[in-house]
Amino acid sequence: MAKTIQAIRGMNDCLPDVSGIWQKVESTLRQVVANYGYQEIRTPIVESTDLFKRSIGEVTDIVEKEMYTFEDRNGDSLTLRPEGTASCVRAGNEHGLIYNQQQRLWYMGPMFRHERPQKGRYRQFHQFGVETYGLAGPDIDLEVILLSARIWKAFGISDQVTLEINSLGSNEARQRYKDALVAFLEARIEQLDEDSRRRLKTNPLRVLDSKNPDVQAAIAGAPSLLDYLDDESKQHFSILCERLSHAGIQYQVNPRLVRGLDYYNRTVFEWVTNSLGSQGTVCAGGRYDGLVEQLGGKAAPAVGFAMGMERLVLLLTTLQSVDNELRAADVYITSMGTDNYAVQVSEMLRDAKPQWRVMMHCGGGNFKKQLKRADKSGALYAVLLGDDEATNNTATVKPLRGDGEQQTVALSSLADTLSSLLD
Ligand code: ATP
Ligand code: MG
Repeated sequence: MAKTIQAIRGMNDCLPDVSGIWQKVESTLRQVVANYGYQEIRTPIVESTDLFKRSIGEVTDIVEKEMYTFEDRNGDSLTLRPEGTASCVRAGNEHGLIYNQQQRLWYMGPMFRHERPQKGRYRQFHQFGVETYGLAGPDIDLEVILLSARIWKAFGISDQVTLEINSLGSNEARQRYKDALVAFLEARIEQLDEDSRRRLKTNPLRVLDSKNPDVQAAIAGAPSLLDYLDDESKQHFSILCERLSHAGIQYQVNPRLVRGLDYYNRTVFEWVTNSLGSQGTVCAGGRYDGLVEQLGGKAAPAVGFAMGMERLVLLLTTLQSVDNELRAADVYITSMGTDNYAVQVSEMLRDAKPQWRVMMHCGGGNFKKQLKRADKSGALYAVLLGDDEATNNTATVKPLRGDGEQQTVALSSLADTLSSLLD
């Protein structure tokens, strides 16, 4: 036998035993964004490497070590997108969406990062996200947070996630804070691990994000970003906090919350859960007012978030908040020597009820064998079509679960009969 070929490590197949859950998750997400008047944008999976370097930042985990970058046949450096925001801004600038005040967008699709695969962390994973442009005030920050909260509500998991928020202030405020933080950390350099020492030089804010408990202990008394905020950012943040409370959204201010991408300023937030071990952030976002201009567009403020869909699905299955519809069929059509009649009946039912799953037996065999398949399909009813039925233009309906009576009906009333049983 030929050697089998396997999927790339950290890249998962989504098989029928879970694809039903994914479809439900996706349709719920679509419904929530539509509910807020957001429109979908789809961008290519591959972009110029420069796009991500210039937006996410050279000194970030993603750009330093996680990107799938390769040369194409023209020698251009391309990268599989590691996140969605940069592509949205690129497309928004390229097509004038942002300039034309197309303000509310959403996207969903695969992202790629070369990380160590573990539960909730993969090399191909999926993000659902929203991005808004041209709106500078805390009202839109509130809206995107409300939208994310409605997603938890739609899945019935509001009490499983908590909101953490922080403000990164303006660039100048962050610079002042960086100086203070560096001074603080340099005095404790021997308590930092190698990674944090390196970051201290390149991107000191990221030390706050360290997952190493020793480093976390060392930075326990570090100065707080919130004490360094410029007046405007301070006001923006306090209005947001006040309006979140007013809207009934509980939150925790976490002055250590920084994001792993350089483009954020002012509001940042994360939704975290205790139910997924260390991969507890299901949704993360914030304001990125400088990025549109930085990528060549006319300056426009922006705010958005991205949600890790694998983590959401994991959370929902862990909490059993969503069940998988394993049933492939509602009705299973069997026949003996009446192939053409079977096709006619199946197509007629599909015409009559596009929402039904009508599976027609293929591959022959006697009724007993066909009914076994019918049972396996999960169908609730089988339709039996033999010579008698074909001659008399009738169909026999056989219940496959529970106790119901088998009945033979005129073809013209088959859809109604099934409808009274199924709908
Ligand atoms: P983390 O700190 O967990 O590495 P991050 O800061 O790199 O997350 P973002 O770039 O903000 O994550 O991405 C937003 C969301 O996408 C995360 O909160 C998470 O839910 C999800 N996510 C990020 N990386 C992965 C991955 N490798 N596999 C699965 N989900 C991921
Ligand atoms: Mg990461």
